Amino acid sequence: MVVTRFAPSPTGYLHIGGARTALFCLLWARKTGGKFILRIEDTDQNRNTPTAMQQVLDDLCWLGLNWDEGPQVGGPNGPYLQSQRLAIYQKYVDKLLDSGLAYYCFDTPEELRAMREKAAAAKQNFTYPRPAKFPTLQDVKQAREQGKPVVVRFCMTNNEIVVNDLIRGQVRFNGRELGDFIILKSDGFPTYHFACVVDDELMGITHVLRGQEHLMNTPCHIALQKALDFRTPQYAHITLTVNQGGGKLSKRDRAKALREHILAHKEIDINRLIQVGGLGENEMKEFLEARSVPDNPQVDAMAEYLGIHLPEINVIDFRRSGYLPEAIVNFIALLGWNPGGDREIMTFEQLIEAFDPSRFSSANSLFDRSKLIAFNTEHIKMLDPEKLLMHFKEYLNANKLPMAGADDAVLGRLLQICHGARTLEEVKNKSEFLFMENDKIRYDSDAVDKILLKGEKQGLEMLWLLRDKLAQLSPVNARTLEAMLRGLAEEKAVGLGKVAQPLRVAITGTTVSPPIFDSIDMLGMDNTLARIDNTLKRFEV
Ligand code: GLU
Repeated sequence: MVVTRFAPSPTGYLHIGGARTALFCLLWARKTGGKFILRIEDTDQNRNTPTAMQQVLDDLCWLGLNWDEGPQVGGPNGPYLQSQRLAIYQKYVDKLLDSGLAYYCFDTPEELRAMREKAAAAKQNFTYPRPAKFPTLQDVKQAREQGKPVVVRFCMTNNEIVVNDLIRGQVRFNGRELGDFIILKSDGFPTYHFACVVDDELMGITHVLRGQEHLMNTPCHIALQKALDFRTPQYAHITLTVNQGGGKLSKRDRAKALREHILAHKEIDINRLIQVGGLGENEMKEFLEARSVPDNPQVDAMAEYLGIHLPEINVIDFRRSGYLPEAIVNFIALLGWNPGGDREIMTFEQLIEAFDPSRFSSANSLFDRSKLIAFNTEHIKMLDPEKLLMHFKEYLNANKLPMAGADDAVLGRLLQICHGARTLEEVKNKSEFLFMENDKIRYDSDAVDKILLKGEKQGLEMLWLLRDKLAQLSPVNARTLEAMLRGLAEEKAVGLGKVAQPLRVAITGTTVSPPIFDSIDMLGMDNTLARIDNTLKRFEV
């Protein structure tokens, strides 16, 4: 049976690249009737943040990437948090120590630095010099008493190690160059290499699929497996996904976009921005001079304040920008893998059906954002209305928008009349006017100039006419509104736009909204008339 695992280190929100790895592990398990395990690799005490694990779990759930074993669901191979498995790792460390395949070391950071510098000065690759005689338990006790750091290193093989990678074929490494690496740290936690190898064995992992940045770790893992008499799983290192500029998708892209926006808009009040972002003055200076990057929440707060969109990097960014999980899953599945033929828009079930691990590509893939938008548009059209409504509500809640409190019937109708929207954010932007106070409409000055004031203020004229006709309309519904507006356009021998646009500006302040008949019907006649009156009063000179 195929058993795959996704093993994130919980150091922050789930990166879109991590989501892609998780998806492939899941597809592989589902395609073969196997099992998909989620394991949390939280052995780096300095990098873990308390909320990070929950964020990762939430993002995976939102994407619909459900694990068969792991945190929250449990399973026979638990615990699934490495920080809760220390006794297990200790047992295997002892086994290696007992068989002379590992040894204690007590070097201080300064001593290690000096060794590295010496090797660098001699233009040599640094590997740890294995002592002729290994320290005894008595030495360990003494070192501890002297306050020295006690670690355990693995006796790396001097032989060649061959990684049989599903995507890259055979990759050869020289064990001698890799050297003796640490398996147990001075804080009593195992290193990533060690915990990963022990858990892959104990959890029965048959296929390890992970990012290509881990390829160089694999020979260390294979050497450990041999020393511990473990099985070697099938490895597959998936290629990188790059942005349009050819670089990795990184949080720096977001900070860079923010910086460029700030530098291009001299009118921005930097002091206010410093407050909003919770930065120090110096930090802001360094950021604007491209010498440092603020934290994610600081960048997000500044972008929100400025009302700008930054390139999405983490799953949560896509979620907040109004993408559907179905679209994201479909899109990332096609990064570095293809189903054959020219199929593109696919549901999760179709992806499982088509999944074939021999179709991974060995070339980097481009993260094409316009393609993602096209995928999202298609999935919004395809999705069952009830599910779409659920996502829409989730989106509104994730962004803490007042619209989130609206009735399902209202939100459902908005989704229906905004047919063709590219993102849920677009639906929100188009319908926000319904949830504002009548006197809080923000008028877009271009829209006002072009639609209401141009020429002899024909737009305002039309609004006068419309006001009376609307006040007399009965009954009011999308159909009677349409008949009235079309009738008026015909009477005046103008296109429907000349009638509808002034009305749209009056009720929304802009030139974009859902179809005008539905918009007025949903806004209600009292509000519509109040907004027309406000507009006439404000722009009638
Ligand atoms: N914890 C590692 C990471 O987040 C997992 C690597 C692996 O899959 O072995 O990169």
